[in-house]
Amino acid sequence: MQLELNHVTKTYRGTQAVADVSLRIGPGVLGLLGPNGAGKSSLMRILSTITRPTTGTVIWNGTDIVARPEPLRRVLGYLPQDFGVYPNLSAGEFLRYLAAVKGLTSRSAKARVDELLELVNLTETGSRPVGTFSGGMRQRVGIAQALLGDPELLVVDEPTVGLDPEERMRFRNLLGDLANDRIVILSTHIVSDIEAIADDIAILTAGELRRRGTPEELLRSA
Ligand code: ADP
Ligand code: ADP
Repeated sequence: MQLELNHVTKTYRGTQAVADVSLRIGPGVLGLLGPNGAGKSSLMRILSTITRPTTGTVIWNGTDIVARPEPLRRVLGYLPQDFGVYPNLSAGEFLRYLAAVKGLTSRSAKARVDELLELVNLTETGSRPVGTFSGGMRQRVGIAQALLGDPELLVVDEPTVGLDPEERMRFRNLLGDLANDRIVILSTHIVSDIEAIADDIAILTAGELRRRGTPEELLRSA
């Protein structure tokens, strides 16, 4: 499991969102830290193969994902910043629908969704309309959908925005657990989100990768 960015840039009509970022990423939690506008979402969209970089390459286990995104897409889970739910569906209905779209039979979809609802602690409320859920509960639905395919790479973009402190803490713990045998990339502008669970931190400012290191190295000296 190895993801490699080589001199990645992204320019939107004259705005340089990502400037010459090179990164090597292995299993564990990578916290991508930076203020609003730093280019975090752009980088996350590139890693999720939704956006192509303007220049540079992204290599997943030896395959260039810009030229051949399929191998990465098969093992990718993505929770976008603007993740939307269907308010009238229950969490279970919504997730079973997504599982069906992914090609699971209704029987294995049900089994997988029950397993995920339990993992994100929504078994009790899984049959209520998602429209009645709190922000934290919605984000847990978001994580569950990202985990449907048991991804090797989990990309989560600013997942703790709008969560209350307790939900935020629980959400962090969940992500920390998930990173045992996969790559988790978590973007945030909140230092405490990654202080506790990131194995590695990359600091992005104005599209540039400014620093890279462990939380101890970067946050203690900051
Ligand atoms: P973030 O909080 O990550 O900075 P933004 O508010 O910048 O998110 O972006 C939200 C959405 O709007 C994204 O899908 C992004 O691609 C799009 N977007 C952001 N800035 C612009 C822009 N200047 N022109 C067009 N689309 C934009
Ligand atoms: P972050 O997630 O760190 O807030 P973004 O990647 O959303 O950063 O944005 C980086 C810069 O790129 C911002 O100036 C933003 O307005 C711009 N941007 C992002 N998405 C788009 C887009 N689709 N079109 C035009 N500009 C964009």
